[in-house]
Amino acid sequence: MNKILVLNSGSSSLKFQLFNIQSVGNNKHNSINCHLIASGLVEKIGDINSTAHLKLSDTPSGVKTRLNRPISNHKKAIETMEFLLKENNCLNTVEELVGVGHRVVHGGEDFYQPTLINDNVLETIQKLSPLAPLHNPANLTGINAIKQRAPKLPQVAVFDTAFHQSIPEHAYLYGLPYELYEQQKVRRYGFHGTSHHYVAKQAADYLGKALSELKIISLHLGNGTSAAAIEYGLSIDTSMGMTPLEGLVMGTRCGDIDPAISFYLAKETGLSLQALDQLLNKESGLKGICGQNDMRAIVERSNQGDIKAKLAIKIFCYRIKKYIGAYLAAMNGADVIIFTGGIGENSAEIREFSCQKLQNLGISIDSLKNNQRVTKQSDQSIMEIQSLTGQSKILVIPTNEELEIAVQAMKIIQKK
Ligand code: AMP
Repeated sequence: MNKILVLNSGSSSLKFQLFNIQSVGNNKHNSINCHLIASGLVEKIGDINSTAHLKLSDTPSGVKTRLNRPISNHKKAIETMEFLLKENNCLNTVEELVGVGHRVVHGGEDFYQPTLINDNVLETIQKLSPLAPLHNPANLTGINAIKQRAPKLPQVAVFDTAFHQSIPEHAYLYGLPYELYEQQKVRRYGFHGTSHHYVAKQAADYLGKALSELKIISLHLGNGTSAAAIEYGLSIDTSMGMTPLEGLVMGTRCGDIDPAISFYLAKETGLSLQALDQLLNKESGLKGICGQNDMRAIVERSNQGDIKAKLAIKIFCYRIKKYIGAYLAAMNGADVIIFTGGIGENSAEIREFSCQKLQNLGISIDSLKNNQRVTKQSDQSIMEIQSLTGQSKILVIPTNEELEIAVQAMKIIQKK
């Protein structure tokens, strides 16, 4: 019994990571040390063209095993995952597992920390489904499939929204009739909480300070993007809202827009609610502006002079800069700015453009330092890129949501 499984279950996919728990001391965070054994993905569940693959973490080439076979449901996906893990000597029996940590997207106001799953918890996650119709039901499918396979195995839900439950009322309420909050729970919840919390703790460790001493602006820039203001260890504001559509410009999501645009388009073009949803969530953001949502390709196009790609980058970075400004104001300054997520970790250009002309606010990037490469594997995985004149530290920190879920879940299982 020394392994923990982390699952991220989507409607037609199952992402999994298996960790060895290397040392478990008392209940403190630092006493739990998880080491990745293997990761994998089952895709197109319910389709005849399902695929599954497994990647071992300790082989230099990251040896991959791939299967192509119909996988009709999540129960079969779990069986396939178990087969792959056994075939590759990662897991001999389910008894080696101490538990399973699940990424659950929406915990509403009910969950403000990782929670051991029982029937009441399952019911509450189900009740919260209208707030995250694409995610919570899918997350539940993974939980139920494990429950069927190993009914006694402890399962822990780690919520994307939980870290942001410390946001005060004046920041989480919208300027809408108060009854909408009371009756329909319309408010800002925020997402990417596991990532923001993880990188904030990494920053504090790196700087040799307590998280409770620092004011941090965390920028998670991936396909989904969000900013968080973390004051003395607590999230006090974040850019995503009631749903992950609000805030920064994203790969395919629009971020902040005037809500009246929806009524205008419905009236003028006859777009249905469903079509508007599709437009704002899947056809907007970087993709809407320049036809592509892959930032690496957009930067390449921009470097070759493509005008739309340049514009997309400008819009993306200007929105980030505005949020940095807002959170500097909210916290009366920031000790640390963190860049994370696929774009934040890898794109020196985006980091530089997002911090342009902020030097009077104490934020200034050193170009040379910014252009170093950061790798998840190296010991020096955190990069410090502020210039000598910058007052705020600017750190590039690889996020690791699965590792954070494993650690958080272990803490709960230990207390059981
Ligand atoms: P994530 O959702 O965190 O996996 O991030 C995905 C995004 O990171 C995609 O838009 C990728 O194009 C982007 N990305 C990854 N590597 C780079 C890079 N070297 N330069 C720019 N963007 C990158």
